[in-house]
Formats: sequence, C-alpha cells, structure tokens
Amino acid sequence: MHSRELLERTLHHAADYLEGLKETPVGATADVHELRRRIGRALADEGVPAERVIDELVEDVAPGLLGSAGGRFFAWVIGASLPSALSAEWLTSTWDQTAVLYSTGPSAAIVEEVCGEWLKELLGIPASAGFALVTGCQMAHATCLAAARNALLAKHGHDVEELGLAGSPPIRFLCSERHGSIDRAVRLLGFGSRSIEVLPANEAGLMDPGVLAGALDPKIPTVVLLQAGDINTGAFDDFEALVPIAHGAGAWVHLDGAFGLWAAASPSQRHHMHGAEAADSWATDGHKWLNVPYDSGYAFVADADAQRAAMGHRASYLTHDSEARDEIDWNPEWSRRSRGFATYAAIRELGRSGIADLVDRTCRHAASLVEGIGALDGAEVVSRACINQGLVRFLDPNKKDHDRFTDVVLDRIEAGGEALFSGTHYRGRRCMRISVCSWLTDDEDVERTIRAVKAAIEA
Ligand SMILES: *Cc1c(COP(=O)(O)O)cnc(C)c1O
Repeated sequence: MHSRELLERTLHHAADYLEGLKETPVGATADVHELRRRIGRALADEGVPAERVIDELVEDVAPGLLGSAGGRFFAWVIGASLPSALSAEWLTSTWDQTAVLYSTGPSAAIVEEVCGEWLKELLGIPASAGFALVTGCQMAHATCLAAARNALLAKHGHDVEELGLAGSPPIRFLCSERHGSIDRAVRLLGFGSRSIEVLPANEAGLMDPGVLAGALDPKIPTVVLLQAGDINTGAFDDFEALVPIAHGAGAWVHLDGAFGLWAAASPSQRHHMHGAEAADSWATDGHKWLNVPYDSGYAFVADADAQRAAMGHRASYLTHDSEARDEIDWNPEWSRRSRGFATYAAIRELGRSGIADLVDRTCRHAASLVEGIGALDGAEVVSRACINQGLVRFLDPNKKDHDRFTDVVLDRIEAGGEALFSGTHYRGRRCMRISVCSWLTDDEDVERTIRAVKAAIEA
C-alpha cells in the first residue's frame, strides 16, 4: 500500500520547490562533477525506505534543477506547468493506465479523443483530421511523415507498409530553414539526411514561393516542410502562397509548429497562420506554449486514413473496440503514458480566452524583453520579437569580438541566477535568444530580468 504519509511528504517537497522558485537561482549551481558525486551512489544490495529515497532525491538533485517551472526562464523554448496540468500529471502516474487501447484504459482513451477534438478547434485544423498525442514535436513529425510516406508512395503504386522502402521511388523533402528534429524524423523513417533539399530562403529566412515553384517536380513524390514559428526569429512561412504551389505539384505539406501553431489560438496572432489550415499535416507541442508538463506533443494528419494506414495494428490477442478509438491505431508507441489527462486539464483550466491571453501575454513580455535589453548600453536587437521569440546580442566594449562578448554576458547572466537564456548562431553572428513560454512570467519578472542583464553587461 502506498502510504498517505509519503504522498503528503512528497506534496510538501513539491510545494516547497514551487514556492521557492522566485528566490532560487534559475540556472544550475552545481557542475557535472558535483552532480555525479551527489547522485552517483554505488548500486546497493539492500533497499532503502521509500521516504528516505524521496528526501535524498530531492536534496541531491536540487543544484542541477533548472528553473523552467518558474517565470524567468527564457532559454530554448520551454514552458512551465499550469497548476491543473501538474496535478493531472500526478494523477496520471497514480492511476497508471496504459493508453494503448480503449480496453486498457477506457477513460484515458476518451480523454485523448476529447483532447484531439479540442486541439483541432483551437489550432484551426480541420475537424476531420486524424491525431495522436505523442512525446514531443519530433515524434509528431515522425508520425505525420510516416503518413506522408504512406500516401505519397501509394499514389505511385507502392505499399510501403508491406514492402518497406526497398524498390520504392525516392521521396524528396524540400525546406528552407528547419529545426533539427525534422532531420531526425526523416532519418528514423529510413530516408537519410540527403533526401532533404534545402532551398535558398528569402530575406526573412523564409521559403520563397518562386524558388519552391521552380524546385517542384510533379513526377517525384515530395514533402514540403514549412515553418510556423522559426526557432530563432519566430517567423512564419507564407502558407497562403506556398501551400497551393506545393499542392499544385502533388506534394504533401507538413508544418512544424512546435510552439508557433498556438498563434492560431489567439485572435491577435492568428494572422500568421492564414492558409495553414490547408496543409496536410501539422506537428506541435503541449509542453512548450500550452504549459503542460513534459512530455507532450501533438500530431495531426488531414488524411486520417493515411495516418491509420501508417500506424494501425491488429493482433489477435488484443481486444479492439469497434465503437471506441484505440490509440495504437494512430500512435507510434505500444504501451504508453495516458498523455491526455494533463492536456485535458490545461485546456479546461484556461478555456479559449485563457489560452489566447497566455499567447498574447507571453508575446508582449517577449517584445518588452527584446526592446528593453536591446536599449541597454552594450546591447543591440538582432531580430525584433515575432510572437514570443526574439534575438539580441552584446557588443564588446573593446570592439573586438562581439560573439565572444555575447557568450561572456550569457555566462554572467547564468551565474547571477536571476534569469536564464540560451545562445544561438544566427546569420553568422552569436546571439542571445529570448523565448517566453511560461504562464508565470509577469511584468516584474521582465523588469527584474532587464536589470540582471544590465548588471551582466557592466560586470
Ligand atoms: C522544440 C522544437 C521542436 C522539437 O520538439 P520536441 O517537443 O522537443 O520534440 C521542433 N521544432 C521546433 C520549431 C521546436 O521549437
């Protein structure tokens, strides 16, 4: 029996952690050696009482926990956890349902079904699209592109589920800028990085309609990879122009919208997504902008039959329900976490207007941070905030090496503990990326962060 005492003790640890986030350093305070020393105990013969395991775990890992659950974490693109989503996540572990089939977790299956419908509505995706709740955007790419592989090769008379890729026509993947998770998904599906062709981008780093039109060949099965929210600049491809061009040549259009797809949930940011509803597949995350705990990604495929053909499975020892939705028919995994509960909770907690407000608020804070930091002596704006992302860099007072000085300032900010950012290379320059995803970030966090960056430049 699980003891109430241990669960209550754990609750106190969790509450202490969350309440301490305003004061604890946002970055790690121990290095790799220190963490190995603290955590790397010898494997013991004898077990340890559960309370001691938990107390020591909490103590040992503390200096290597990043403050991404708080409001001053702006590194990479990482969200925090909404209260109801965190609580639902605890219950997910408590209930311990395996979300493979309706029959292995009936409520889990229905919750996912409802999440799929809600997400399509929120994100402007056709109601008839298939969907899957996966671990993250990369696995959403893999799920969507497996459906693309099935459908494109079927048009060429090749059943890839039966025959594999041996003897199939090659598939081209056309993109301009892209996130590395696309490459990994393409490799997992057996295509290899060489099947990705990078088209020269326009001024804004986006796909150029004329270049795409010139590159397409209707005779070759092709996937066009577009971006809803560039990882550096937050920029969106021009879907209204590009999707019809791709479709005109029979290509499949896949959208990487790990965070950017959520622009569709805000009336003031929705314009970025015009034309996106005509794509063939869409990949996004819950663990970034929706503030669902890790891990949570969502895949959507307009041709639901192609998704089912790529993922579906029937085995005689499984109990399939003809009425209900079996997750195994849509997802790449077999046994899996009941990923729907946390998403369901997050969407209910916020509602449509709360999600729009979360998007708008974080966009506003991103703009304030980019402008506020860019206005400091020794800093400049490299890319103004588009949705919740922007870029700045720092200028070497000796005018020698701005790239190196940008890294120096990044390190100083981290050491100060007030905020955390990550660096990136953008058009040959070292920059600091500003990404605001947390539901907790408020005006005070923004001011506190700008003060901390000012101190780091002047240190
Ligand atoms: C984070 C991100 C990904 C990868 O998502 P995971 O959830 O980490 O798998 C893909 N594309 C973009 C644009 C991202 O920001």
